Amino acid sequence: MDGPVHLLPHGAAQQRTLRSPIDCTGTGLHSGLRVWMELAPSAADSGIIFHRRDMAVDIPARFDRVVDGRLATQLAATEAPDVRVSTVEHIMAALAALGIDNARISLDGPEVPVLDGSGAPFVFLIDCAGIAVQEAPRRELVVLRPVRIVEGESFVELLPDPGPGLTMELSIAFDQPAIGRQAFALQLTEVAFRRELASARTFTTADAIAALRAAGLAQGGTLENAVVVDNQRVLNPAGLRMPDEFVRHKLLDAVGDLALAGFPIRGRFRAHRSGHALNHRLLQRLFASPEAFRIVVPLAEPALAAA
Ligand SMILES: [Zn+2]
Repeated sequence: MDGPVHLLPHGAAQQRTLRSPIDCTGTGLHSGLRVWMELAPSAADSGIIFHRRDMAVDIPARFDRVVDGRLATQLAATEAPDVRVSTVEHIMAALAALGIDNARISLDGPEVPVLDGSGAPFVFLIDCAGIAVQEAPRRELVVLRPVRIVEGESFVELLPDPGPGLTMELSIAFDQPAIGRQAFALQLTEVAFRRELASARTFTTADAIAALRAAGLAQGGTLENAVVVDNQRVLNPAGLRMPDEFVRHKLLDAVGDLALAGFPIRGRFRAHRSGHALNHRLLQRLFASPEAFRIVVPLAEPALAAA
């Protein structure tokens, strides 16, 4: 192989990318447009980059590119703010949970295809592409001080945590009885994501759909790519994939939004009645608070010395 040889610090984890490109075509949840998307390998330290092939513009998947977080996470190019990519949260969650540090995601439209409304199709695509280990060491964001955003009854926070990786706790409270109150907690690992979060679908209420459509959103939404709730009832003929699919999806969204930090996070995430907008404000506050975090190359635990 050409190029410089990167010597890894002893015991450091290595960055990962995809082994080969893979593509798919699907519908944008909000735009209703058919979009072609390709996931491709990229160089170490490049991060996740969305590429609007139709506009020849790159948009790095970072918190400081977020322009709208009301319903979905939308990113804009710095040099061309009208060039955007929307609904990045589910693919970002899958990439982060499967430990993909670097990838180039090309699209010929403004929105990531919603596919079945969950993270599972993106996990499938990554599994098909395969994973390649790179020479550069992976860096990690360690939370050192609590950072918290409160809005009415809602809050999100990141706290220091002595354990490895990211521990997550999230609760929701909806008026619709079919959703109600739900809570879920997990230690974010690839295995836990695949088993507990990946297949949880996005959801909305029958009331909200009319308002979204009137606002030009949810144009691509169907019972094939979203759970729709009408008070006590789930309108999807096949019902839910798991009884607490709603809170699990909110956690999936949080995994994707936190991935916009650009580094795996070591700490504890807690949230109640949260959404994309609060998740983004949390990252903005974190990065505006240099004393609250440190970027490190984590080393494996040293072997215990013989007594
Ligand atoms: Zn979502």
